[in-house]
Formats: sequence, C-alpha cells, structure tokens
Amino acid sequence: MLEKVVIANRGEIALRILRACRELGIRTVAVHSSADRDLKHVRLADESVCIGPPPSADSYLNIPAVVSAAEVTDAVGIHPGYGFLSENADFAERVEQSGFVFIGPRPDTIRLMGDKVSAIEAMRNAGVPCVPGSGGELGIDPDDNIRIAREVGYPVIIKASGGGGGRGMRVVNGEAALLNAISLTRAEAAAAFANDAVYLEKYLENPRHVEFQVLADEHGNAIHLCERDCSMQRRHQKVIEEAPAPGITEEMRARIGALCVGACLEVGYRGAGTFEFLFEDGKFYFMEMNTRVQVEHPITEMITGVDIVVEQLRIAAGERLRYTQSDIRINGHAVECRINAEHPETFMPSPGLITLFHPPGGPGIRVDSHLYSGYDVPPYYDSLIGKLIAHGENRDVATARMRVALSEAVIEGINTNIPLHERLVEDRGFLRGGANIHYLENLLRE
Ligand code: ADP
Repeated sequence: MLEKVVIANRGEIALRILRACRELGIRTVAVHSSADRDLKHVRLADESVCIGPPPSADSYLNIPAVVSAAEVTDAVGIHPGYGFLSENADFAERVEQSGFVFIGPRPDTIRLMGDKVSAIEAMRNAGVPCVPGSGGELGIDPDDNIRIAREVGYPVIIKASGGGGGRGMRVVNGEAALLNAISLTRAEAAAAFANDAVYLEKYLENPRHVEFQVLADEHGNAIHLCERDCSMQRRHQKVIEEAPAPGITEEMRARIGALCVGACLEVGYRGAGTFEFLFEDGKFYFMEMNTRVQVEHPITEMITGVDIVVEQLRIAAGERLRYTQSDIRINGHAVECRINAEHPETFMPSPGLITLFHPPGGPGIRVDSHLYSGYDVPPYYDSLIGKLIAHGENRDVATARMRVALSEAVIEGINTNIPLHERLVEDRGFLRGGANIHYLENLLRE
C-alpha cells in the first residue's frame, strides 16, 4: 500500500479521502491555503503544509506548491479529489515525472477525455452511443456547416471542445442564427480555453442526466457500479442525485454498463471514472467522461457496498480490482442532497461562522461534511459544505429517511439550502421520479 498520501483538496472531499487513507493505514498530508488552517481534515491529518494564500490560483491550483509539499513530506502519492487540479493532465504528468503516484488515470487519458472532440471520437470507436452531430471539429466552410446542421436537424448546440463547467456552448434554433453562433462560440472558446475548436450536436430538448460509475485497474480489469440520476440541476449544477436511476431497466443497465467497461479497456483507463449520458426517449447519448471521483459518489457506495475512494487508493498502489462484475448487486436506493452555504431562495453565497452544528443520524443516514460548531466557512471557495445521503430498501424509504434527516439537521450562523431540499423531497415531480434536467429550474421559476 502507499505509505503516505498528499490530499490536494479541501472541505468534505479532503475529509473523505483522509478517512479512506486512515482506514488503509496510509499516513496523510493535508495541503491547505492560509484560509483553511481550521479545516477538520487539516486537524486530523498526520502532517499539514500551508501552500499559499486564500485564492485557489495561488494555493490549490499552484502545481509547484503541491508537488513541493509532497517532496518535503516524503509522500508517495497525491490524491487530487474533485475540482481544482483533478482533471489537469499537466498536473498529473508533473506528479508522475516527479516520482509520485497520481491517484487517478494516466495523464494521456485525462488529456484524451478533457478534449470533448477526442473523447467523443474515442467513445464512438468503442461503440458507446453519442449525440448525433458533426462527429468532429467544425471546419470554417460556411456551406459545409449549414449542411451538417441541416442533416442533424434543428435545434442544435454548438460546443467548445475544450469547454467545461457548463461554459462554452450555445443553442441554435434555426439556420438564420447558425453561422453567427459558430463564430461567437469559437471566439469565446479561444479566449476562455485557449482552444478554438468547436463541434455541433443535436440539442436534446428534455433529457435526463444519467451517469455510470466505473472502476478499472492497471491489469486489464474493469467493472461498472451501475448508474446515478443527476437530473435535478440548477445552472448545470447538480442539487439532488439518486441511485439507481428511476426507470432504467436491468437490460439497459447491463448494456450501457458493458459499453462503458469496454471503453475503459479500449483507452486503458485506470482508477475511478464516470461516463455522463443524456437519456431521452429510452436512449442513451454519451456526453463526457469525468476522470476523477465525483461529489455524488456516496450514493453508489450505499447501493453497491463498494468504497470508491478505498478502491482508488488500492488501484493506485497497483493492486488488482477485488470485484468482478457479478459481485456488483444493487441493494436498495440512495438519495443525496448537496448542502450549500447559500440563501435557499436567492442562492447568494453565505459564508461565515457556524455557531451550532448538529448532524442528523439514524438508520441509512450518512453525512459527509467537514462542518463543526465554531468552524468559519471561508468566502473564497465553492459553497458546498456537506452532503446528506439517505439509503433505504427502496426509493420511498430512502426519500422518507431523507425527509427526517433534513428536518433534524441543525446548521446555525449561516444560510443553507436545506429549506429548498425540504421542499424538493415533498415535491410531486421529484416523488414521481425521472424528472428531466429542466425540471428544477422550471419549478424555481414558478
Ligand atoms: P460541461 O463539461 O461544461 O459540463 P457538458 O457537455 O457536460 O459540458 O454539458 C453540460 C450541460 O449542457 C449538460 O448537463 C446538459 O444540460 C447541456 N447539454 C450539453 N449538450 C447537450 C445536448 N446535445 N442537448 C441538450 N443539452 C445538452
């Protein structure tokens, strides 16, 4: 096993990684900004290194600082968590070149999947269904582009190959707006992502977001851990997730899961990853692959019993997967509510001192959070302060337990979105299951 691991992240995921390391007897190094000295995992880690001032660009995104922290502490591996440097191929490369284990896929895999055009091409070659579209980068010939859009059929969406975080895309409803939209997206992409490649896809009007979790080792073994439904979104940010996805049949799960596993083997994938799909009218369309652990990984852990972060560490240590596909069975249903430090109606960030924190508990309840009474939520980072996860024998039981947990949770001193979640878990559209990605925004508009 890896002897000592640097946790190159903060907040709840840093604590989650720390717990997995301790369980495996791995010593831990917390790297943190000067605003994060009081984070729970910094206090619990074997060692800690302050790597810079509060702004992420000067600390959590500072590659030389993170790598130096590994050097001065004699660490063996670096876990990037999610966000920050987790999908930065240059970082992964630098980590490996400096002689450390990057707890994630190979740098060239991150690069392949980070570019949407090359990712889609790789997936198409592996037989994974993609959204009908240009199939590659759009050229500069206007007539060609008009023809491609006609063949695909309006509405279409123009997307930047280097885009991410919901940025760099534009929906086009008819031919009149096409060429202008292509040039605008191209110009924005050049400025924002230093890559002006754009491509075109059919715009699906009412899809759901359904994603498959995978694990792959370095020895040619890969499995999937079934799917999650993350359609409850606001501004492309997931708010509630659940597993399994309502209405996905055993046949669909086995078929799409097997295609994801095949794609992992094809590209030589290593570690944990997620294939994101749009799901509409019973069909799956590959959207992108996330080459890291995801915020919503706990719901998959609850229904499969597999500890995804422990498996990431084992895989990084060169071990073989301990599971085969037939070991993976779905046990019940799990729901996750993302708890943010924000106003439940205006969504304004609400950092500040937590004067009182009482997490909920009881059967099937899991709380992944770094909060404690007296902790001061800094204003510099993402507003996620924790995740409430409820598991039960079926969707109704999981949802009922979530309702009780939300009502028990006490977080005083700041605003949180718990009131929004309390409303959502009573909402008829949510309770029915299978709402599409526009549902929540429409509900909020009402
Ligand atoms: P990012 O990497 O920026 O998150 P994605 O490709 O994952 O970009 O797309 C983000 C979101 O944009 C999706 O979750 C979906 O809501 C919407 N979207 C992207 N492509 C399409 C499409 N072809 N049809 C409909 N919606 C889409």
